[in-house]
Amino acid sequence: MSHVDDAVKWLESLSPEDEVSEQEMLDLKDYTYKELVDLMMRGFGQKKFRGQQVFAWLYDKFAQDVDEMSNLSKGFRSRLARVARVSALEYTGKHESADGTVKLLFKCRDNSVVETVYIPSDGRNTLCISSQVGCAMGCTFCWTAKMGLHRHLSTAEIVEQVVQARKRMGDINGHIGNIVFMGMGEPLHNYDNVVRAIDLLTDQRGLDFSKRKITVSTSGVVSALEKLGHDVDVNIAISLNSTTDEQRSAIMPVNDRWNIEELLGALRRYPLEKRQRITFEYVMIKDFNDTIDDAKRLVRMLSTLPSKVNLIPFNPHPNSPFLPPAEEVVDAFRDYLVSKNMSCFRRKTRGQEEMAACGQLGKPGDKEPAHVRKKLAPFRAEMQG
Ligand code: SAH
Ligand code: SF4
Repeated sequence: MSHVDDAVKWLESLSPEDEVSEQEMLDLKDYTYKELVDLMMRGFGQKKFRGQQVFAWLYDKFAQDVDEMSNLSKGFRSRLARVARVSALEYTGKHESADGTVKLLFKCRDNSVVETVYIPSDGRNTLCISSQVGCAMGCTFCWTAKMGLHRHLSTAEIVEQVVQARKRMGDINGHIGNIVFMGMGEPLHNYDNVVRAIDLLTDQRGLDFSKRKITVSTSGVVSALEKLGHDVDVNIAISLNSTTDEQRSAIMPVNDRWNIEELLGALRRYPLEKRQRITFEYVMIKDFNDTIDDAKRLVRMLSTLPSKVNLIPFNPHPNSPFLPPAEEVVDAFRDYLVSKNMSCFRRKTRGQEEMAACGQLGKPGDKEPAHVRKKLAPFRAEMQG
């Protein structure tokens, strides 16, 4: 049964005197354009153009409330408002870093907190969005991992981050050029909602982001990666972070499921357009993966793939046994890659003081998940030894 069938069935089962609770309400941003039109027709008995009007209110005029939809009849508006919501997230505030990075905070209806980061940059502002509350992947260097997975975000909760950031553009003084799925969560673990959100973000009748301006970053969920290339056409980024299986498995449990060769195999088969390249993220950790031998292996490993490398010096967070390498070490690593004609960017650390940088999102409880603690134990022992 489709998404819309479920909603139509529920609407049919409601009698006029039923109380509809917050939890039961439909989220209008959970539906793609086609689905929304279908829902308005089958669920509310409206003509096709009404669905089109509602879509425009959501993604063109950024309405926050059904009541704002002034070209709908009063009767239809009140029927809609009784059972459906426009906004899946409530904006609760922002933290600005001195470098201009803004962390936007939102509250979901179950009180979970969603974090979205706006990163201004000359001519190319980026919005970093979250796909889950927490993350199940357990990468040892990542603050979000310490939360474990609380839950997936819905399609509406993913798209709403972009709508609200767009709406607040005056506030944060910029235009959103790029969208990256690099906030909290592993996007390919929440596959259906992420793909549906991409459909909405790129819909020309609404938000109209170019598919080349959207990047999905993954730790390497190979089974979903195989599907992604067929379902949507966006850029991909791979959190590689290591050049041997031993090294990668020590910090990324996903490598025990799909090793580096399996990951590279899936990437070789990934449908890319001419001149499109895969981004490889490489978090640099002091005395772990920062030598010229690592750089050499990286060059060899990526030589058969159209790639660019994003070097991210480790961003510290409380209780972590890791440190970033010294500046000169990062520079030497980058210089080596560049000398081998690799396209390489050193990611400037942004928003660190407000815990808005890569791998610093989330609000872990006091208890570290057992799988993260276990992987971290050898690093902690070494630190103390
Ligand atoms: N789950 C996805 C996307 C979110 S993580 C993924 O892993 O790709 C976004 C990026 O932040 C990843 O490349 C990850 O390797 C990096 N990262 C995580 N923790 C970090 C830290 N403490 N310092 C620097 N980068 C970090
Ligand atoms: Fe999850 Fe990405 Fe953090 Fe790994 S790096 S724990 S996949 S958010």
